[in-house]
Amino acid sequence: EKGKPLMLNPRTNKGMAFSLQERQILGIHGLLPPKVETQDIQAMRFQKNLKKMTDPLQKYIYLMGIQERNERLFYRVLMEDIDELMPIVYTPTVGLACTQYGHIFRRPKGLFISIRDRGHIRSILDNWPETNVAAVVVTDGERILGLGDLGVYGMGIPVGKLCLYTACAGIRPEKCLPVVIDVGTDNETLLEDPLYMGLYQKRDRSQAYDDLIDEFMEAVVDKYGQDTLIQFEDFGNHNAFRFLRKYREKYCTFNDDIQGTASVALAGLLAAQRVVGKPITEHRVLFLGAGEAALGIANLIVMAMMETGMTQDEARKKIWMFDKYGLIAKETDGNQEAFLHDSPGNIQSFLDAVNTIKPTAIIGVAGAGPLFTHDVIKAMGNLNERPIIFALSNPTNKAECTAEDAYTLTDGRCLFASGSPFGPVTLSDGRVFTPGQGNNAYIFPGVALAVILSGVRHISDTVFLEAAKTLAEQLTDKELEEGRLYPPLSNIREVSVQMAVKVMEYVYAKGMAFRYPEPVDKNNFIRATVWNTSYDSFLPDTYDWPDVKEQQ
Ligand code: NAP
Ligand code: MN
Repeated sequence: EKGKPLMLNPRTNKGMAFSLQERQILGIHGLLPPKVETQDIQAMRFQKNLKKMTDPLQKYIYLMGIQERNERLFYRVLMEDIDELMPIVYTPTVGLACTQYGHIFRRPKGLFISIRDRGHIRSILDNWPETNVAAVVVTDGERILGLGDLGVYGMGIPVGKLCLYTACAGIRPEKCLPVVIDVGTDNETLLEDPLYMGLYQKRDRSQAYDDLIDEFMEAVVDKYGQDTLIQFEDFGNHNAFRFLRKYREKYCTFNDDIQGTASVALAGLLAAQRVVGKPITEHRVLFLGAGEAALGIANLIVMAMMETGMTQDEARKKIWMFDKYGLIAKETDGNQEAFLHDSPGNIQSFLDAVNTIKPTAIIGVAGAGPLFTHDVIKAMGNLNERPIIFALSNPTNKAECTAEDAYTLTDGRCLFASGSPFGPVTLSDGRVFTPGQGNNAYIFPGVALAVILSGVRHISDTVFLEAAKTLAEQLTDKELEEGRLYPPLSNIREVSVQMAVKVMEYVYAKGMAFRYPEPVDKNNFIRATVWNTSYDSFLPDTYDWPDVKEQQ
């Protein structure tokens, strides 16, 4: 057997694009149809088939199949149509795929570590075939998007996130490692599902769980180095905050649900502020939800306000939160201490809260469905000339309101962003608005690229502040006029590269970068390292030696 493994390995396979010489030298001639095909034709075949499919889940399965057979072709197709296909490999369709993971399963992707493997995580890592991992995305599946506990079915999330590391920021796929930590699930449906793929047990919430995560962190840096980036994704609220606090100074780590979300939401606010013409310090923000996303965003807004000279106390007073039990005020306990204000009176509903607090912006991150009712949206329209309405909960059916409701009920005056994508909205007078998608994918790939290339040892919140500013600056005035708060997704590769340049300049300037020598021209440096999808040649470097006699 010579070249057959190359054909079976998605990382090296190029299908009919193996040249005649390659086929002969590798001993695979005759195993492929005679035609030697270009990647362009291969891409066209896949694009045509994708266009024919109407069911998003079917598209997901088909795309994942390409990834399992021919990785470069997969990324080529994904990158060429990123605005169409991101909603498939990422929210919202990835959410559906996760709920069905055991049913649509073809081949395993990523690394599975269970609580029964305690004491052996390092040897499991040794089974991973790549030795050069630079970035890990890990979940324990407890809070997948707004869908709750999906146990190991959550693997779709780290896989999807890392697809975007490569597609958006050109990080080499072999440097990316998706991980699910299985400590059980409290999802009764899954525990009764014969096709479920994880441990049939309730979540272990004992010390053993903490020890397992500790061991995992140690094993990763032991194997791949201290500056390996470890992104936490879709952990339950309590654990997300605990682990962030515990590891943020010790490892090169961040929590995307807290910090990535914060950055993309703040970028949206900064862009909105360019339209409204009011400095950020004059805004009053009311959150629906008081979890990872809400606290992350709130803390970053406070940092942004403090940069303009406000004190922390003053800034915190501008921010209110409303959770399952109502408006959060002094008596409540939890992670929200910083945002507990004197109760403004008897508030029964979110609508009451809006009318009492009179926010300039409402941000929905409760994952509890369409709670920005018509009355809420209208109230925002009455209170503000340009109300800011962000319905960030994912997937689409968890969004606090639709783009259409937001624009129609405010006569097109609102500045709207959502977590999952909505199409453009045309009002009865013919005006068209393009809603922004506050997609974390604007932030984490670019930040990750910069962090990896700079040898950052731990990631400060100021990095996410910097990333938010960079993203908001990238929006042109024309795009703002169309109602956009984020650049078009089709530009995301350029957006990510520019963000990486800015973040890299920032971390070197602040002494947070440890890769030396420092690249002088960071723009060129980054552009030269990003991965592209053209095929490598497998032909050996053949040549004749110079004729020695003639030379003498
Ligand atoms: P989380 O930590 O679980 O927080 C959810 C919060 O919402 C909790 O404070 C919860 O209160 C509250 N809540 C639940 N039901 C509610 C209700 N009916 N009314 C008011 N508040 C309610 O989750 P998270 O990480 O913040 O994520 C929340 C949502 O945001 C998810 O749908 C997620 O997909 C979305 N998200 C979007 C983006 C993005 O668009 N870029 C990024 C991250 C997250 P209790 O704690 O009392 O239950
Ligand atoms: Mn997430």
